[in-house]
Amino acid sequence: MGIELSRKEAIRIIQDYMLLHLSIEEKGNILIGYGGKVINEDNDEWIVSEILNIKNNRIIRANYNYSKLITNTYLELKIKEFYDLEIAIISNKNYDFDSYYSCVCCNYIISKKRTLYSICPVCYWEDDFTEGETYSGPNHSSLKDYKLKFFKQKELNSNDDVYLQYYK
Ligand SMILES: [Zn+2]
Repeated sequence: MGIELSRKEAIRIIQDYMLLHLSIEEKGNILIGYGGKVINEDNDEWIVSEILNIKNNRIIRANYNYSKLITNTYLELKIKEFYDLEIAIISNKNYDFDSYYSCVCCNYIISKKRTLYSICPVCYWEDDFTEGETYSGPNHSSLKDYKLKFFKQKELNSNDDVYLQYYK
């Protein structure tokens, strides 16, 4: 039996860990992603005092605002990995995934609606609305072949299951 946490608490704890344990370089890369100027342009070095400034803590945390499509199991495993603690996330919300869209290739729920040329974060299929055996340029393959390849690889690496909730 593990400590019971709400999903919000679990995310907060992961954020605490990240804030305290990420390296200067990892933090710097996050801040650059948010448009921060944390590299000295003259000598290409990290500006450490700028990176560690309290004003950035909120941004570092925000980088770990896990989407609701990330499973509780994934968050539980992260806390186990970071703190060596067994926790159980008790969901206080039941999301209605009926209105969500799952990838045509891997079936994982990836977004709220289908968008042309969006790339699936799980299988990387770029959705150009081709189907079946029709050759898809951006994917260098047909959907049918891509699917076969994806599920074959997935058998070898079951970690993928952790990332996004599976629909159906
Ligand atoms: Zn996919």
